[in-house]
Amino acid sequence: MIHQTLSGPLVRDADIPTNEDVRIINSLKNPPPVPVSEKDIFMRHCRLAGDSIDGYFGCFRTEDLPKLLSMVQGAPLLIGHNKRSLGVARFFGGTIEEHDGSKYIVPSFYWLRGHSSADDLRVAIDGGLYSEASISFAYEKPTCSVCGEDIRTCEHLPGSAHGDDGNPVFYYYDNVVAVLEGSLVYRGAQPGTGFSLSSMLSDSENPTYGTPILRIKRHGKWYRAPLIEENPDSEPPVTQPSQPASV
Ligand SMILES: [Zn+2]
Repeated sequence: MIHQTLSGPLVRDADIPTNEDVRIINSLKNPPPVPVSEKDIFMRHCRLAGDSIDGYFGCFRTEDLPKLLSMVQGAPLLIGHNKRSLGVARFFGGTIEEHDGSKYIVPSFYWLRGHSSADDLRVAIDGGLYSEASISFAYEKPTCSVCGEDIRTCEHLPGSAHGDDGNPVFYYYDNVVAVLEGSLVYRGAQPGTGFSLSSMLSDSENPTYGTPILRIKRHGKWYRAPLIEENPDSEPPVTQPSQPASV
């Protein structure tokens, strides 16, 4: 099982809740114990994840997007991934939309006007303090775009050029098993992509692709390490036991 966090921009068009929105909220798997009406909620939506290749050279298969959208339904939204706080909003409904030639899931989310900080959240979103929503999800197999094998064990490296066209090798998020949480976060917009990676995953958890990496197979397991140019004038590097990298 691999955990990944991806985020996408909040779309700040004002959303006026409709009958249909309220019907979807009240028929979520864990519906509000007291059914909500149009007057009870604020709602916004966000372009969350899609079939374009992201900064880790991963992407969803277009045909898996409806399933992903269904898995987001009812997931709580936290603020800044603070797991000690209660969720402030929930995902519901939404569509699959095209943007810059790629398809994305665009779920809506709602929160209650009656909450003591409901207006604070609305102002913070509309004022740009929270500019993105992100989801953490778990999936089973990063499938190589070239050979169809698990990219952690095949010979291809994400981000490296392959073949005559020079297109980078990427992988599919296959067998998504769960959407774990959502969060409202602030991040600068990434022009042109409408899609960016969360900073939740540290560098040690995600080796930087696109830089020269040495891979070695030893006792049936693959190991990888970045290639660091040695400066002939400096001391020789201290040798340390190698650790298998996780993707
Ligand atoms: Zn491969």
